[in-house]
Amino acid sequence: MPIAVQKFGGTSVANAEKIKRAARRAINAFKQGNQVVMVASARGKQTDQLVADAIELNPNPPKREMDMLLSTGEQQTVSLLAMALDAMGHKAISFTGTQIRMVTDGAHSKARIKSIDADRIHEKLDTGHIVIVAGFQGVDDHDDITTLGRGGSDTSAVALAAALKADVCEIYTDVDGIYTTDPRLYTQAVKIDRISFDEMLEMASLGAGVMHGRAVEFGKKYDINIHVRSSLTDAQGTLITKEVPQMEGILVSGATIQKDLAKIGLNSIDNKPGNAAKVFAHLAQAQVSVNDIIQVEVSPEKANLSFTTAKADLAEAKKAIEEIMQQVNCESIFVREDIAEVSVIGVGMRSHHGVAETMFGALSKAKVNIDSITTSEIRISCIVDIDQAQTALVAVCDAFDLDKPAEKRKNQN
Ligand code: ASP
Ligand code: MG
Repeated sequence: MPIAVQKFGGTSVANAEKIKRAARRAINAFKQGNQVVMVASARGKQTDQLVADAIELNPNPPKREMDMLLSTGEQQTVSLLAMALDAMGHKAISFTGTQIRMVTDGAHSKARIKSIDADRIHEKLDTGHIVIVAGFQGVDDHDDITTLGRGGSDTSAVALAAALKADVCEIYTDVDGIYTTDPRLYTQAVKIDRISFDEMLEMASLGAGVMHGRAVEFGKKYDINIHVRSSLTDAQGTLITKEVPQMEGILVSGATIQKDLAKIGLNSIDNKPGNAAKVFAHLAQAQVSVNDIIQVEVSPEKANLSFTTAKADLAEAKKAIEEIMQQVNCESIFVREDIAEVSVIGVGMRSHHGVAETMFGALSKAKVNIDSITTSEIRISCIVDIDQAQTALVAVCDAFDLDKPAEKRKNQN
């Protein structure tokens, strides 16, 4: 029998009515001949509330205890869903991450999944149950509860879909799919019907809030089609899927803006082998994730190195850099928090030229100063002043026609 994994985000299970609606959706899929696994997030803004409760008592709560606390939100949802299904006359059972051995590393608050024991789930599916799994949480080798990072239930769902060899992983949310850019910032943004894993990975890591990046990585690695769709309607959403050649015809699929960034620069470090390795090994040890890195040689003896990181990691990053700066003979460091990064993403860039020119031209016309530029094969990003972020995004979206469906954009082949 085909297996369907259906993940429900916080807004899709926010109250009793919505929980019932999610339960009915699962029953429908079951009646259509699927074995159904539901993955649920904490209800509404509950995780935020739990974070606030913690901070009230301790501004810097131990991460292990934070995971103990935050994982309770999902546990409530899954048991309530099981009760709702039971009331509808359907066999259902809920599980925590620990109960299905969703084993992760020990990095509290940003753990990575290592393995899942699918046996218990299969056993229940085979006896006609709808299985409901708490998203966002796992357990490490010491039996301590971990969480996967905010928004991590998507990752739980796709990882489960891979472990169960599911036919589809549906992500039910309060929007009807992935948009060319955040419609709150650019109201003319349009829904994307299909996007490749690589593009979605870039968009997710650049702050397109809809999907958790790790979820897309799992989808890509195990070739699981991910269907992001609205929990309120039956309309098709956005399919995140393997790249097909036609996708290269679309120059730019989406644009993002990231405002929760900070930048640290190391001025004038010794230009010799092993220095970058030292700096980033030290940052990794402090569990700081780094986004874009720029190093420029300024003389045969000296180089400037800078990188961006999430504002939330800035304090730890700065501490780590201060510890290491002498070892690389760094003259001074500078930190900027008043920045934003605007990016365009598209697999079409691989085979077409002129994308950079169009982007820089649009920013120049809008009188936005570009602080620094980084690129990947399918992305161009510019750091700009945060107070020009909105202007920059609109200029770029207009330039690439991101207010039109892909087939109607100019510059397409
Ligand atoms: N409840 C968690 C959060 O709010 C995980 C999730 O919703 O995916 O981040
Ligand atoms: Mg989410």
